[in-house]
Amino acid sequence: MGVLGRSGIFVGCVAAFMTLLPQNPHRDNLLANISSGKTRVLDLSYAINDKLVPWPGDTRVFEAQVNATVEKNGYFTRSFWMLEHYGTHLDAPIHFPPGTVTVDKIPTKQLFGPAVVIDVRAEAVKDADYLLSVARVEEWEKRNGRIPEGAIVLLRTGWAARWPDAQRYRNEDAHGQMHFPGFSVEAVKVLMERKISGLGCDTLSADYGASADFAVHHLALGAGLYQVENLSDLSGVPEAGAFLIVAPIKLEGGSGGAVRVFALVGESEVKK
Ligand SMILES: [Zn+2]
Repeated sequence: MGVLGRSGIFVGCVAAFMTLLPQNPHRDNLLANISSGKTRVLDLSYAINDKLVPWPGDTRVFEAQVNATVEKNGYFTRSFWMLEHYGTHLDAPIHFPPGTVTVDKIPTKQLFGPAVVIDVRAEAVKDADYLLSVARVEEWEKRNGRIPEGAIVLLRTGWAARWPDAQRYRNEDAHGQMHFPGFSVEAVKVLMERKISGLGCDTLSADYGASADFAVHHLALGAGLYQVENLSDLSGVPEAGAFLIVAPIKLEGGSGGAVRVFALVGESEVKK
């Protein structure tokens, strides 16, 4: 590799490192550069309708009805009903014990943070029951530095490619047991040591599909983290350097709810 190539990598590494530092000019530019288009804003949420993949057993998921029409009323409004946990949604800590915080009470600063993307697509193709290992977390840190405090850690399994095909997305076996990858308790313990703000995944659950005890739910939500589930395709989000804005519906007393997740991706972080 020539001198130019090496310096290119060096500049890239510095840029990636800079974005992880708080109060650095680069991070500030992420927001300032939205209007010019230099910063790309990716929407990681699915549009809500009644055709999304529900949790097994959920039959009534979403209904919308027209209340007023321009023709009849001069304006257009609808009303809707939906599950709190449907489509791209957030699990508030109170969703599983010993968590207590409802969705409206999640501290706002916890909803903004550096995106850490751990790509386990290769493992997931080989093993639908794959659990994120501590080794993979350490491997990410070897390349990108220590996972920063306040990070939102996203598990990219590739399962979004199966959406919204319920059969392929849930991947149930003959006994009705689901099979898709997830976080492991061991890996989440390491992430909690890093003082992250939340977890996210492109599957139906932060726990793997075959989980019977929802150990990650109990552990992470119990510690006051939140989980974002059914994120859309994460292919545009680099493994480090993007910034996430997590905006859940502010349902008073809610166990969670529909969430809009935005990833801010700077020019220098466009997928390597
Ligand atoms: Zn949920």
